[in-house]
Amino acid sequence: MPTYVRTDKCDGCQDQKKTVCMHICPHDLMRLDKDGSETGHAKKAYNQEPEQCWECYACVKICPQNAIECRSYADVTPLGGMVQPMRGSDAIVWNIKFRNGNKKRFEFPIRTIAEESIDPYSGTPETIEAELADHSTLFTKGTHSCDFSQFNAS
Ligand code: SF4
Ligand code: SF4
Repeated sequence: MPTYVRTDKCDGCQDQKKTVCMHICPHDLMRLDKDGSETGHAKKAYNQEPEQCWECYACVKICPQNAIECRSYADVTPLGGMVQPMRGSDAIVWNIKFRNGNKKRFEFPIRTIAEESIDPYSGTPETIEAELADHSTLFTKGTHSCDFSQFNAS
């Protein structure tokens, strides 16, 4: 489901040279229409090529105005539906709106420990250097032997 920008919500990231959605998109699809000459909406972002959208939703999750939404596929959800994820510090909420007006809301935790509390080297064995120096314990050393003679140039 490719994305589109709601012009009623987008503030153009307050006219920055590079908006948040432009910065995060891995396929460089997001553009800011500075003067309205491209879309008719000045200072609003837009997805310049929805057919090329990876549907990664990085832009949807990061937009500070919640201005980017996912366009439904007709064979997945009825046209006119809406999907809007809202990212919090410890959970993400997916708001689903059906074209008949029914709404559903799913909330999933995205982390269980405090932000910036992870020590990436926690639990690293202190003896790892010594173990690496002992080649007899490595999978490709000591316990296996290969005959490379067949590969030698004659
Ligand atoms: S990140 Fe959101 S508010 Fe900022 S330009 Fe993109 S769509 Fe607009
Ligand atoms: S969903 Fe991903 S690929 Fe598509 S416009 Fe947003 S960031 Fe770019």
